Amino acid sequence: MPNVSIIGSGFSGLSAACFMAKQGHDVTVFEKNSSIGGRARAFSDSGFTFDMGPSWYWMPDIFENFFAHFNKRPEDYYKLLQLDPGFQIIFKEGSPMIIPASLEGIYEVFESIEKGSVVKLKKFLAEGAVKYKIGMKELVYKPSFSLLEFANYKTLSGAAKLNMFNSVSEYVRRYFKDERLIALMEFPVLFLGAMAKDIPALYSLMNYAALSLGTWYPMSGIIEVIRSMETLASSMGVKFETSCEVTKINIVNKKANEIQTSKGNFKTDSIIATGDYHHIEQELLEEQYRNYDAHYWKKRTFAPSCLIFYIGVNKKIKKLIHHNLFFDASINDHSKDIYENPTWPADPLFYACCPSKTDNSVAPEGMENLFLLVPIAPGLTDIENIRESYFKKIIARMEHYCNDTIMPHIIYKRSYCVNDFKNDYHAYKGNAYGLANTLRQTAVLKPSLRNKKIKNIFYAGQLTVPGPGVPPAIISGQIAAEQLLKYFN
Ligand SMILES: Cc1cc2nc3c(=O)[nH]c(=O)nc-3n(C[C@H](O)[C@H](O)[C@H](O)COP(=O)(O)OP(=O)(O)OC[C@H]3O[C@@H](n4cnc5c(N)ncnc54)[C@H](O)[C@@H]3O)c2cc1C
Repeated sequence: MPNVSIIGSGFSGLSAACFMAKQGHDVTVFEKNSSIGGRARAFSDSGFTFDMGPSWYWMPDIFENFFAHFNKRPEDYYKLLQLDPGFQIIFKEGSPMIIPASLEGIYEVFESIEKGSVVKLKKFLAEGAVKYKIGMKELVYKPSFSLLEFANYKTLSGAAKLNMFNSVSEYVRRYFKDERLIALMEFPVLFLGAMAKDIPALYSLMNYAALSLGTWYPMSGIIEVIRSMETLASSMGVKFETSCEVTKINIVNKKANEIQTSKGNFKTDSIIATGDYHHIEQELLEEQYRNYDAHYWKKRTFAPSCLIFYIGVNKKIKKLIHHNLFFDASINDHSKDIYENPTWPADPLFYACCPSKTDNSVAPEGMENLFLLVPIAPGLTDIENIRESYFKKIIARMEHYCNDTIMPHIIYKRSYCVNDFKNDYHAYKGNAYGLANTLRQTAVLKPSLRNKKIKNIFYAGQLTVPGPGVPPAIISGQIAAEQLLKYFN
């Protein structure tokens, strides 16, 4: 059986490794960092364990589908809890909007904010269910090499159902008037890396995911999902080379036949490259073998980077729940600072995740584990003074909302920003979430999953199809593996 080299051990690399090993291939995963998981790694320090990246577990069916390919279920590996409430949004004035797990509860929240909105919400979610079914069960599994793959959906009725040509922003405003409901319905697409006005309304399927399918948490954190995929891969013989940076892909007779790494050279019959696409092409492949040039990358719309703080607090903070969105500043102004005129935001929105509300294993008893995230434009100047000034700002905002002191109780602190994304993942401009899912960067318009010149190189991960996020990364690994299997056959 030909062997397969996977570059990168994030969700897409692990997924690709599992699918290739299942067919009996000899698979090795090469990872530059000392631990696996990519952007979803975790670290422990001073009694706290922090997920470094993703914290929202949405679309549980995608995880079930993945494990089902191997006759497994998520619960064979980790305990999944549905969070109730799922999350809360804190506004400048008034009480926070708390989103319960049950639809009945969500209807009550809507009705209390905007009379008559329940009927609209039901219609919105019914349309979301159709989009989810077509989008997440069919379209995302396509390699997107040709528009013909989407022929069914080009029919008028198909396109209308998917709302490909309206924006999320227009679509949401057709249904709801209250700014708080609009913020609730627009926030999930912030994950997709652009303003709601630039994201096709197809992605309102994310609202269906958030509200109808629920917000879940794997006990011990998202890292548990990484560990389970590692266990599954290892059980099928996949080998892991960590602290092993791939520095070059050697090509002979139009085929990749060797990779050079910091631990020496390895012969290979094929490659699925899941590290950041730009880095793989620009730095590991000679110019004549690349799909895209530097100019192409300059023209892409990248999703945001972020400033993150991993914080340990030596007491409990009453008013926080597991997921807290601090929308107590102008969404518009912050979005402009990210997308229109990239600059450090004057008054940022931020997200506070407090998994110790659900999980005792992530913090010492009586303490809180906090993950604070401020989305920012990629490529901003990242220096300690700036990080620190934002730290003070957001802790003050949390103290104000919680009506409690937090700063003197911080016993652990680590920050992470643009420079870390560059150093740890070779991320172009230090992006966190890859490429934005704008209409011009969707499906066939995304960087291709295959190398068009070297037939035994495929790409997977958040910079190619279907896009950013844990479920899409898992799917991306699957599609790339399916294409490589076709190549071998
Ligand atoms: C802060 C943050 C929060 C997020 N929150 C969420 C969330 O709540 N929910 C959600 O669904 N998604 C979330 N995401 C997005 C999600 O985490 C990513 O889309 C997904 O994990 C990407 O997986 P990947 O395999 O494409 O890439 P990565 O995880 O980046 O994996 C690529 C791997 O390749 C390695 N690599 C790169 N170059 C080389 C080389 N030359 N040699 C060897 N190895 C190399 C890197 O070290 C890395 O480990 C978040 C992302 C971030 C950064």
